[in-house]
Amino acid sequence: MSSHPRGPVNLDTPIRFSDSLPGAVDVVVIGGGIAGVASALYMRAEGLSVALIEKGRIGCEQSSRNWGWVRQHGRDEDELPVMKEANRLWGELDGRMKGAAGFKRCGILYLASSEKALAAREVWLDVAKRHQVKTRVLSAREVAARIDQGGLETAHRWVGATITEDDGRAEPWQAVPALAGLAQEDGVCLRENCAARALITANGRVEAVVTEAGTIRCEQVLVAAGAWSSLFLQRHGIIIPQLSVRSTVSATAAMPSVFEGCAADEKLAFRRREDGGYTVSLPDLHDLYIGPSAFRHFFKWLPVAGEHWRDTRFRIKAPKGFPDGWGTARNWAEDDETPFERCRVLEPKPETRKTERLREAFAARFPHLGKPRLIATWSGMIDAMPDIVPVCDRVPAIDGLMVMTGLSGHGFGIGPGFGKAMAKIASGKPAGHDMTRFRFSRFSDGSKLRPGPAI
Ligand SMILES: Cc1cc2nc3c(=O)[nH]c(=O)nc-3n(C[C@H](O)[C@H](O)[C@H](O)COP(=O)(O)OP(=O)(O)OC[C@H]3O[C@@H](n4cnc5c(N)ncnc54)[C@H](O)[C@@H]3O)c2cc1C
Repeated sequence: MSSHPRGPVNLDTPIRFSDSLPGAVDVVVIGGGIAGVASALYMRAEGLSVALIEKGRIGCEQSSRNWGWVRQHGRDEDELPVMKEANRLWGELDGRMKGAAGFKRCGILYLASSEKALAAREVWLDVAKRHQVKTRVLSAREVAARIDQGGLETAHRWVGATITEDDGRAEPWQAVPALAGLAQEDGVCLRENCAARALITANGRVEAVVTEAGTIRCEQVLVAAGAWSSLFLQRHGIIIPQLSVRSTVSATAAMPSVFEGCAADEKLAFRRREDGGYTVSLPDLHDLYIGPSAFRHFFKWLPVAGEHWRDTRFRIKAPKGFPDGWGTARNWAEDDETPFERCRVLEPKPETRKTERLREAFAARFPHLGKPRLIATWSGMIDAMPDIVPVCDRVPAIDGLMVMTGLSGHGFGIGPGFGKAMAKIASGKPAGHDMTRFRFSRFSDGSKLRPGPAI
């Protein structure tokens, strides 16, 4: 893993996926994160011919920078059936990949430092029960039996926790390229370093995708471009109220195990990695760079902003070339360089001024281990929708156009579940789940947005 702020993907390695672009396919998938890769894999399994194009490297943005939690616990209720299936699919896919995703069902624990915090966590138990998810409360003594705090009296005390035992973890930077390898084996055409510039449409239908390496004719297109989706769609007159926030993560060096799964309390999130270290983060720290889209969608975001403004710091200016940067082009010619080629990898600078706070939070919980040595610190831009659930649907204005985006800080775990649903939609079959909540039209059909649990 890198010790520089570029994140866990080594961008200096040679391009792995460089298939020749086909002249025509059934579906072009734009974006090689978990959303695009999982959708492409399952579309192929439905018998569709698929080309996936990625402007940078497979998994180079959010899909490699995340914490690696595969979580049912605390989910929005409408997402839960999809997530239950995703949990099963991760097991299946990891088997096919011979363990390359590092998927393990070691449990997810939400630790509470006060009775009030525990009571707030317990509210979700009703949701779990309705969906037969095995989530239960642990007493302080049970927590102590599971989390090794070295038996020291000085350690931060938790009054209890809620746990979902069969929730999992995976290694994001291994999992997504390995999944892409599976898709390629199954016949998906995969091309890194190849940006989609624009759609070609005629009579309200998709006809082709123009890429920097040529044009691919197609019946359907899936935009799974993460934080770039709204910019891409906007050029075609399609507006979604998507914004992105920066979140910073660190990796500790290998150390004795304190818990094998994923856990978080109010001030610290940690996840055991396969290499024996922990992926750690301050969960209450997000930065929103204010750009034209933040102004445009201000009123749609107000309810969420009201709830989470304490966890979010507002920055006046996005770095140059970011999707919602002030100077980022909103329109471009198909035969000219686009914002996607100018920023191959969205790589926000990590918030390193908080790493000392992070190390202290860890040491307060595990005084027997002390302040951990951090071997890498990186950031990712989390793309989110104002109701904190994604859009996974056809786009009504253009026949053949589909979107899977706005996975709102919890799309890694659920990616295979929604990817499979999108594949069904692409092949004209029922999605397999009730997708009403994730419909494209919810931002414009006058319905009241219902924010799901936090990012
Ligand atoms: C710090 C952090 C922690 C997180 N922790 C978790 C977690 O523990 N569990 C969890 O479930 N989720 C987590 N998430 C969220 C999760 O990572 C995302 O929801 C998920 O990875 C989104 O996947 P995606 O494929 O939609 O987007 P991305 O992974 O961002 O992929 C989009 C891809 O599209 C490409 N692209 C964009 N435009 C174009 C174009 N025009 N042409 C070609 N390619 C293009 C980009 O280069 C990018 O690779 C976390 C996210 C972050 C940042």
